[in-house]
Amino acid sequence: MHLPKNFIAGNWKMNKNYSEGIALIKEIIANNTLETEEYEIILNVPFIHLKEAADLSKDYKHIAIGAQDCHTESSGAFTGNISAEMIQSCGAQYVIIGHSERRMYHQEDAKVLNKKIEQALKNQLKVIFCIGEPLEEREADKQNAYIQKQLEETILQLNKEELKNIIIAYEPIWAIGTGKTASSMQAQNMHAFIRTLFAEKYDTSTANSLSILYGGSCNPNNAKELFSQEDIDGGLIGGASLKSDDFQAIIKSF
Ligand code: PEP
Repeated sequence: MHLPKNFIAGNWKMNKNYSEGIALIKEIIANNTLETEEYEIILNVPFIHLKEAADLSKDYKHIAIGAQDCHTESSGAFTGNISAEMIQSCGAQYVIIGHSERRMYHQEDAKVLNKKIEQALKNQLKVIFCIGEPLEEREADKQNAYIQKQLEETILQLNKEELKNIIIAYEPIWAIGTGKTASSMQAQNMHAFIRTLFAEKYDTSTANSLSILYGGSCNPNNAKELFSQEDIDGGLIGGASLKSDDFQAIIKSF
């Protein structure tokens, strides 16, 4: 199974009640009925929207639905949690794992994230795996070492076949929801560094076929410049994915 190279993924986080969410999905689909092979749109919606979102988008090959988290176990006494298999059974194809908000508010470390990745892959879900450094690391110019460690503890332990189902999202924590975007040069440098890590561990062709998205205050004004960088294969969009016009403008910047 091969993924297209470029993605515009929305991360709705804990926003939109049931009817608001469905209305937004319908609007996004209505704006994007023309098939394209240049990119795929992934809507990472709250669990309550998964099934209907997947049904509404199933005729559009370039629009896919994802969840924002899955549990480490396949089933059992875990009140309130949702398994990868449950997500997959709704028709979703993707799941975000490792978002900085999960790492921070739910203490998700590499051990937990690896179990989640295993569950996702076992249930045919593709993983959007988030990495990103906090501001202190960036200010101390230690961001590369920080990112390398995050990858070495997780994704760089997968085999090449597993890697085909992984998308990396580089999201500097200081840029998420802050309105502060990494400059296109900062983002490009980090994406190129990430690609080198994969080339060293696997090979150049594996590294080149990996999609690396940028996330962090991406908006209609900065998307074009970010996406035009050589190693930036699209974006993971938070706040701006909740407004159909902004999200559409970001998609159009491809
Ligand atoms: C995110 O949380 O994945 C994100 C990129 O958020 P924002 O675009 O709002 O910074």
